[in-house]
Amino acid sequence: MNKEKPSYPIFTEDMKKDYTILVPTMIPLQIGLLTAVMRRYGYNTKMLENSGSGVIERGLKYVHNDICYPAQLVIGQLMEAVESGEYDTDKLALLITQTGGGCRASNYIHLLRRALATAGYGHIPVISLNFSSIEKGAAFKMTPSILYQMMQAVLYGDLLMSLKNQTRPYTRDVDQLDAVIEKWMEKLEAELLHGKISRRRVRQNYRCILRDFSAIPRTGEARRLRVGIVGEIFVKFSPLGNNNLEEFLVKEGAEVVLPGFFDFCFYCVYNSLVDRRLYGTNALVAAVYRIVYRLMLSRQKEIIRIMKKESDYMPPTPFDHTATLSDGFLDNGMKMGEGWLLTAEMVELIESGVESIVCAQPFGCLPNHIAGKGMMKPMKEKYKNVNIVAIDYDSGASRINQENRIKLMLANARDVAGQKEKGATIPEKEKTPV
Ligand code: SF4
Repeated sequence: MNKEKPSYPIFTEDMKKDYTILVPTMIPLQIGLLTAVMRRYGYNTKMLENSGSGVIERGLKYVHNDICYPAQLVIGQLMEAVESGEYDTDKLALLITQTGGGCRASNYIHLLRRALATAGYGHIPVISLNFSSIEKGAAFKMTPSILYQMMQAVLYGDLLMSLKNQTRPYTRDVDQLDAVIEKWMEKLEAELLHGKISRRRVRQNYRCILRDFSAIPRTGEARRLRVGIVGEIFVKFSPLGNNNLEEFLVKEGAEVVLPGFFDFCFYCVYNSLVDRRLYGTNALVAAVYRIVYRLMLSRQKEIIRIMKKESDYMPPTPFDHTATLSDGFLDNGMKMGEGWLLTAEMVELIESGVESIVCAQPFGCLPNHIAGKGMMKPMKEKYKNVNIVAIDYDSGASRINQENRIKLMLANARDVAGQKEKGATIPEKEKTPV
């Protein structure tokens, strides 16, 4: 077959030795560890830290404002770095993720290539990080071994993120907390860089991480109002995408509960099994995904077991349970964007006693308006005390307005909690958030 040469530059093996690969920020801890795995295989990655108005200005300059807000931010951040003069653009490559599903996130790569060409940098290669065998020539070369190491990187990152969120509101010594996180990031990055991920070492690391976080002095104050964050993957996790939502909630006196990035990876794998059930897709491919799914589950259950045994920290919910939680709301066949996972994570939070939830969604994101905002009414009908607020993120959205709506939700939750403590019966309309 006559294969057409792609019209865009491809990152080749030769380029590894002297090219810098820029990686957009999404979840600093997890992406930081994932890039360590990539460095092990010769990809000289650098995670970007630029933020502020320059990012969205570039995004709006190079991407049509009709396209998703996460695309504007990711492409804006990369383009600002390319144009900063900080890098030799003849030795530069960019990395972007592709979800591989039917949503637009699979196509941001084409928008990025067009932005580069428009700005006069059409020679810069773009590498796709995906787990769906798309963009074959331009994709980061994935092998089962690399996938396994990446899985471990995400598990470590999620653990650090969860412990940070559960410790931060209860310590005055934020410097010590930051020092613990920094120490473990350095150690884990170095280990991942050298492929040191034996089961024994990983289990030992989990225990030592738990011990270090548990040793941080606490104020002894009573448990704060716990607030869950769910939503579209980028605006849920990225401080750039959600105007530092986590930090804002902590300042407002809440404890943030953030379901991990590993759940999203699980969701992508699990959806291949759903495809087999619904559409009769290739049995062999489904069998491979089933093996991967079981392996992921066993590794997640290992963390849960160790967290329960060695600490008071709240562990993640096992994914085989999470996968059942959207039942009665949405079918697992609804898998555009974050699809059924978004609904399931709301139920997961409610089941673990987190009744106040911020649903973060890019303005105009159809899948998340269905699986997030669209599920709020049935969810409030089923769980009477639930307090959910949907917040739209967009370049034109007012931060003050977003924060005021969250403050109102928090005030409502505290009011309901206060009345519950006094044993009062709460009229339904008073429980309804903004
Ligand atoms: S999930 Fe929403 S924001 Fe993300 S690509 Fe799809 S439409 Fe865009």
